Amino acid sequence: MSHKLLKGKDVAKPIREDIKQRVAALGEQGWIPSLASIEVGDNPAAKLYIRNQRRTAEKLNIIFEERQYPENITTDELVAVISAMNVDPRITGIILQRPLPDHIDLGVIQTAITAPKDVEGMHPANIGKVVYDDYVLGPCTSLASVECLKSTGMQLRGLEVVVVGHSEIVGKPLGLHLMGELATVTVCHHGTRNLATHTRRADAVFVAVGKPGLITGNMIKPGAAVIDIGINQVEVENEAGELVSKTVGDVDFESVHEIAGWITPVPGGVGPVTLSILMRNTVAAVEAQKLAYESRMLAGD
Ligand code: NAP
Repeated sequence: MSHKLLKGKDVAKPIREDIKQRVAALGEQGWIPSLASIEVGDNPAAKLYIRNQRRTAEKLNIIFEERQYPENITTDELVAVISAMNVDPRITGIILQRPLPDHIDLGVIQTAITAPKDVEGMHPANIGKVVYDDYVLGPCTSLASVECLKSTGMQLRGLEVVVVGHSEIVGKPLGLHLMGELATVTVCHHGTRNLATHTRRADAVFVAVGKPGLITGNMIKPGAAVIDIGINQVEVENEAGELVSKTVGDVDFESVHEIAGWITPVPGGVGPVTLSILMRNTVAAVEAQKLAYESRMLAGD
């Protein structure tokens, strides 16, 4: 079976075209999407994400403002910073860069970002709406992974799908999004007895665990779509025999690409699509804020 590579930039292209049109339409009515990025401490991985976010936002005419806070900021201080952003009309969306220092209570911070500005779709109110399949701001990685599968042209209704990993930010919402598409969904995790018996019967496998090489070719049904969400740094030997760092997913690409019908590469697969969904959420947030403003005006508030 020769696989087809699901490149993130191809999946993201129509999403970015749609964003440009929506930003232009908002601009004509005086609404400008503006993202505030919150970084705590000085982390090289966060810096790389921020650089990519800024570059993508600027290409789409979205304002991107970086705010950096000291490593020793407390949870309460950070909540105060976010509360000010929540009521600042110049800021329409807020991104919390990870990782955060261990002393910061992530649950508290995530809930502190007001739901209408939560462009990552992580506020409990936004996640909750995914359960009802009636959301404006859904979790970005989950939505991006579904876009990758849709780009294969596979009919999702009735499709046998296995999701490996059940984290709050990826696996659980992904299971819900896929159910919303009427796929038949199995979610595997730590407690799953025999992972391969599940993955082998799936038409599509999503993997979000954080373990390089977890999924190998003998665990995949011939022709299946494999969406690799994992991002891991491993050390490999280069041609000069030196150890260098390499980014890989959770899927053993070498053995899986021989069997799969479609596969996302890492890097360059789900990641760029996730970034586009973040920008799409940013626009959706402004559209919703504009509607809410107009309703208030009509009501004479
Ligand atoms: P996480 O919170 O650590 O969750 C990992 C999940 O994998 C947990 O549900 C865990 O289950 C499950 N798990 C652990 N070992 C397993 C096994 N042997 N078999 C099956 N399931 C197992 O991680 P996350 O935030 O979801 O992220 C997962 C990966 O996706 C990471 O590599 C992360 O870097 C990457 N990621 C990528 C993007 C992107 O845009 N591409 C975005 C976010 C995350 P238990 O809780 O039961 O242990």
